[in-house]
Formats: sequence, structure tokens, C-alpha cells
Amino acid sequence: VSAAHRNYDHKFKVVLMGDSDVGKSNLLSRFTQNEFCSESNPTIGIDFAARRIQVEGKLIKAHIWDIAGSERFHKLRSSYCRGAVGAILVYDVSKPSTFDNLAMWLKELRDHTYPSIRIVLVGNKTDLKHLRAVATDDAHRFSEKEGLSYIETSALDATNVKAPFQMIVEDIYRTIV
Ligand code: GDP
Ligand code: MG
Repeated sequence: VSAAHRNYDHKFKVVLMGDSDVGKSNLLSRFTQNEFCSESNPTIGIDFAARRIQVEGKLIKAHIWDIAGSERFHKLRSSYCRGAVGAILVYDVSKPSTFDNLAMWLKELRDHTYPSIRIVLVGNKTDLKHLRAVATDDAHRFSEKEGLSYIETSALDATNVKAPFQMIVEDIYRTIV
């Protein structure tokens, strides 16, 4: 497609990463369709959505990829990551093991993408207040150490569900322009 016929100024590939069950697919469906699914629905393979996001007057087409089905041992991992310029790395604030695994996910990302990849860390399921097991301060400290942006969300009550997508696209835009 020639530049004159494109309906966007830039196109970015963004991948969703993190343990199974942390809410990646629900964050994506909340963002793209305002839908939440209370049943765990681990579609096997790779799903993706394309959305246009405006940054500083430019239209960015974000291709957001969502891997599913035993995320940790996925043989599609390297093709999933190929060409990604951003990642939304998700953990569950009520489940410490998903926070402890972040270092492993960062290594995966850094092994399979450009060193310049931008990453937004998302602490999801903040609606589970009584089950909270990872402190916001700890997540902030980790994010600072690793050079990530950080935000907390709830796909269930729709808190901050657009923010990670807007943040990652703005972050990528500022690094490339
Ligand atoms: P994925 O495996 O990371 O894609 O996670 P899913 O989006 O499939 O969600 C896994 C389970 O967590 C499902 O039962 C969802 O309904 C639930 N879930 C997802 N997001 C939230 C949230 O923000 N709050 C609560 N309480 N549950 C959530
Ligand atoms: Mg999923």
C-alpha cells in the first residue's frame, strides 16, 4: 500500500506477555470490545487485534498479539516475538508467583526482540482487594530497576484498561520519532 493510501502514520507490533491466567486476553477484549469473560478461555495459538491509537496528532496502528495455551512452554514464542517493538507484560496482583516470574518473561522478551523494545508492566486484578499479595511499591521498585513503565488495572471492573495500550504506543512513538 502506498503512503498516500495508508490510513495510519506508523504501524507497531505489540505482544502481550506473562503467565497464564493473569488476564491478558481479558485486558485485550476490554480494550478492543469492552468485553469481559468470567470463564477462563485459553484459546490455543495466537490471537491478535488491530487498533488505531492517536499520539501527538499521528495515527498509530497497533497490532496487538495475544499468545494462548501453556504460555510458558510455547513453541511459537520466537515467531510471536519477532518484529515486536513493544510488550505489555502482565502479572496478577493476587498471585505472587506471577510477579516472581517477571524476570523470566523479561529474559524471553530480550532474547527474542530488539534491545530497544519498550515494555509496560501491568499489575492486573486490582479488584481483588482482599486477596492483594504484591505491594504496589514492590512493583514500582522492580519497574524502575528494569526500566519499565508501570500501571495497575482491573479487566473485571474496567479500571485503567485503555492506559497500558496508550502508554506502550506513546512510549514506542517517542523512541522512534
Ligand atoms: P490469560 O490467560 O492471561 O489470557 O487470562 P484470561 O484473560 O483468560 O483470564 C484468566 C482468568 O482471570 C479468567 O477467569 C478471567 O475472568 C479472570 N480475570 C481476568 N482479568 C481479571 C481481573 O481484572 N479481575 C478478576 N477478578 N479476574 C480477572
Ligand atoms: Mg489468554
